[in-house]
Amino acid sequence: MEKISIIVSCYNEEEALPLFYKEANKLTKEMNEFEFEFIFVNDGSKDKTLEEIKKLNKKDKRVKYISFSRNFGKEAAMYAGLVHSSGDYVTLMDADLQDPPSLLPKMMEYIKDGYDSVGTRRVTRKGEPPIRSFFARMFYKIINKMSKIEMVDGARDYRLMKRCVVDSIISLREYNRYSKGLFSFVGFDTKWIEFENVERVAGETKWSFWKLFIYALEGITAFSTVPLVFSAVIGVLFCLIAFIAILVIIFKTLVYGDPVSGWPSTVCIIFLVSGIQLFCTGIIGQYLSKTYLETKNRPIYIIKETNIDNK
Ligand code: UDP
Ligand code: MG
Repeated sequence: MEKISIIVSCYNEEEALPLFYKEANKLTKEMNEFEFEFIFVNDGSKDKTLEEIKKLNKKDKRVKYISFSRNFGKEAAMYAGLVHSSGDYVTLMDADLQDPPSLLPKMMEYIKDGYDSVGTRRVTRKGEPPIRSFFARMFYKIINKMSKIEMVDGARDYRLMKRCVVDSIISLREYNRYSKGLFSFVGFDTKWIEFENVERVAGETKWSFWKLFIYALEGITAFSTVPLVFSAVIGVLFCLIAFIAILVIIFKTLVYGDPVSGWPSTVCIIFLVSGIQLFCTGIIGQYLSKTYLETKNRPIYIIKETNIDNK
């Protein structure tokens, strides 16, 4: 029998977990031609998430867990889940039922049709603050212009993959992980299915606007070096402007004997130019800091407790 691994990253999800399990369990009964395993990754939750998972494990031996020593972030949790999964197919889901388990049979049909991976995207952003939707749309526009890797607007981490795709994702061991990009990077035939946004069943979102903003920068620096080119181009442009200005000033002084004047404008120019310089140094700093973190080669996650003994 073929096996499907369901990976669920959980951070403070004590309320949502039982609801999730109920839905997912229903699904496993529906898809009884497959064997299932659940891998719950407890990402350093501060509530009773781990206890909830252990309760599920008592009832259902298919439930496995990995508990981190602290909060490492959803990306690290998904990675740990992939590393420890043993299914022929693997799916990533959120614990809050925003990734409807009921879509899975349809996703499996596409896999059986020959696709290697089936991704999901939300076509609506109902229930989300409008300002957040606006910035999200902007982000996808910008990053798709800047990166050769295609990022699909509204794409979720919810997807079903064959083992070959999972193994290639695992082989990308970078510390600064941006999964949406990594999935595009590894390629393979991917089918996208669309669904309407669903609001979370219980608990609240862990992503503040600021956290999302940092995550967006992560995506840009991880998959594009265009900002570096941009700062170089600005540099050249300003040199050209300065060169022309120097010629004009020398000419004016020689011909008209212009007295020194225009201090206010000089001050403005100094501010502008030094601002742009700092901005460009900041861009370089962003890349440098990522390189710095990568070269340290720190582990992506640290496990405190688990009931999986492979690997
Ligand atoms: N999550 C996690 N670690 C974190 C933040 C979130 O494992 O540091 C999990 C969370 O438990 C949930 C999923 O990632 O299962 C998505 O989080 P959330 O629903 O808060 O994000 P949203 O759907 O609002 O974008
Ligand atoms: Mg959610």
